[in-house]
Amino acid sequence: MTQIINGKILRDKILAELKAEASLLEVKPSLSVIIVGNDPASKIYVNTKKKKALEIGFKSEIIEFDEDVQERTLLGKIDELNNDKNVNAILVQLPLPAHINTKKIIESINPLKDVDCFHPYNAGKIFTNSDAVVYPCTPKGIIRLLREYNVEIAGKNVVIIGRSNIVGRPLAAMLTNLDATVTLCHSKSQNISYYTQNADIVISAAGIAGLVKADMLKDGVIVVDVGMNRIETPDGKKLVGDADFESVKEKAALITPVPGGVGPMTICSLMENTFELYKLQQ
Ligand code: NAP
Repeated sequence: MTQIINGKILRDKILAELKAEASLLEVKPSLSVIIVGNDPASKIYVNTKKKKALEIGFKSEIIEFDEDVQERTLLGKIDELNNDKNVNAILVQLPLPAHINTKKIIESINPLKDVDCFHPYNAGKIFTNSDAVVYPCTPKGIIRLLREYNVEIAGKNVVIIGRSNIVGRPLAAMLTNLDATVTLCHSKSQNISYYTQNADIVISAAGIAGLVKADMLKDGVIVVDVGMNRIETPDGKKLVGDADFESVKEKAALITPVPGGVGPMTICSLMENTFELYKLQQ
């Protein structure tokens, strides 16, 4: 029997716990979000982050810059936030315009305020399996979901599709640290089925609708679908993952839906990270 993993229930439980804890604090955890330009999707993302933070009793602000902002202006703002003891967590919404050096911006964030865990110092902590300050939001949320559903990780064959710095790469390191045997596939991988057919857990973060099909999987596999793809259907636009959900769910023991699986956990991890950074700074 296939079980559908419910990310919303776990998110709501964790956020309620954070809210209760935050309500006892005199000084609240604080998240500052920088956004450059007018990309509608990015605006929705940052507004959701601020809304969630406020809902659980954190402080949050969105700092907006025009599309043509100079790099040094952004660096100046980050320096100011780094030195502001009332700001615990800093997030720069990506992508940034082409004239801005994203790497330089990320590296200018104080690692102790790097809520997304993109700074090489924090990423390095994960890749060397040493005490991490925080963990990147989506991988952290995925591991939390697997734990909630009592999925054993140690010794399992895990195939991750997608090697971005946001999802696949850090997730591969985190699962390796948890003693999984990890295969990391990407767009140059030949015959991905060869790897997935032997996998106990398949995690797809490629951003391609229908990439993971039932005939690529073994019976009883656990499928975590990170992809968020907007596709046209006769009923209008629809959000789907990378897995061909209807066929894959016939084979899987556990599967995350899109929406309602990994997505809710990402924002939940962001709030947890904000709180963890706050605690570190007290
Ligand atoms: P990304 O930076 O574009 O990376 C995509 C990765 O997938 C790359 O490593 C790419 O390989 C690989 N890939 C592309 N086509 C492939 C194919 N045909 N076969 C195998 N691998 C392929 O994307 P991202 O930021 O990691 O996001 C991936 C997806 O997850 C997107 O749909 C995004 O919206 C979603 N996402 C969801 C959440 C959430 O909270 N639910 C969070 C983050 C991202 P190369 O490295 O060779 O180019």
